[in-house]
Amino acid sequence: MRQYAKGPVHAYLFNGPVGSSLRDTARTFAAALQCREHGCGRCEACRLVLSDNDPDVYFAERAGVSWRIDELREADRVGRRRPLGAGYQIIVIEDVELTTTGSSPSAAALLKSLEEPPSRTVYLLTAEDVPPALDTISSRCVEVKLKVLSEADLREVLVREGADAPAAEVAANAANGNLRRARVLVRDPALAERIAQWRAVPERLNGTPATSSALAQAISAALDEAIAPLQQMQEEEMALRVQDSREMGQRGVANRRDIEAQFKREQRRFRIDELRFGLTALTNVYRERLVDNLSAAPDQSRSDYRVGASMSAIDVVAEANRRLSSNIDETLLLNDLMLSLMAF
Ligand SMILES: [Zn+2]
Repeated sequence: MRQYAKGPVHAYLFNGPVGSSLRDTARTFAAALQCREHGCGRCEACRLVLSDNDPDVYFAERAGVSWRIDELREADRVGRRRPLGAGYQIIVIEDVELTTTGSSPSAAALLKSLEEPPSRTVYLLTAEDVPPALDTISSRCVEVKLKVLSEADLREVLVREGADAPAAEVAANAANGNLRRARVLVRDPALAERIAQWRAVPERLNGTPATSSALAQAISAALDEAIAPLQQMQEEEMALRVQDSREMGQRGVANRRDIEAQFKREQRRFRIDELRFGLTALTNVYRERLVDNLSAAPDQSRSDYRVGASMSAIDVVAEANRRLSSNIDETLLLNDLMLSLMAF
């Protein structure tokens, strides 16, 4: 990454799957651009960027599910400014695939910013997905592709950071390549219990609606608890920022409200990731059943019936996973899921 920061072009597009920590990457790269040593991580310039206190680094804020034109115009306005410091004016716009969606796509506004930015302005864009509609934008950027970390990589990082090996193993397995998630999970003593709870769903569903609704509630409560280690981590991060700003002689953390809003978004995302992870654990149980039933003596119709039921259950869980992408109410989703699974 460092070699890119040495002779920067005016726009980069960081492209990687969920969990490749695109925001962290953009921030680290911004530090590398501002730093005289291209990202030493220790100097004042690096510290300012990494603690979100560099006034020349602007993270564009998106209020809705897609980018609005006025939000991108604001980013463009900031991008036309001369940097206050000796480095660059840096504009970070995340999830740029969301400029091509919504009722009035805003990709044209972004394209205009990228056409002739001032010489000391650098745009850092991120996208989890680069659909063909984004071609004109990506053609104006140097594209940097990122990979998800493997389970072994995650385990290694966690152990290096002081986790014990068995806890690191469970957390790495449950993190789906997402380092931040792995760091939260490794602090969570209830993780193994939560996995067991999801795996026990099929045998606990006994055919009465009361049981299915109690199960949905229990899972929902476990999700509430799952957020706690993340909240604790965020509080620690905020305390560090408070300390940093005191050391720099400021009265408070400058963009505290933005950071808190971002924490809230992260909590929502974490909850969805956790739910997705639970659905995967559940799918695995039905898959195991399916394999068992397939290998059972192929003589009776009973076994055919079970094979069919396992396959249908897998479909039901997959459907719940799809609905999760569409802003659906969590309680409703869990209740529907348990009621549908009761049939199998
Ligand atoms: Zn530095």
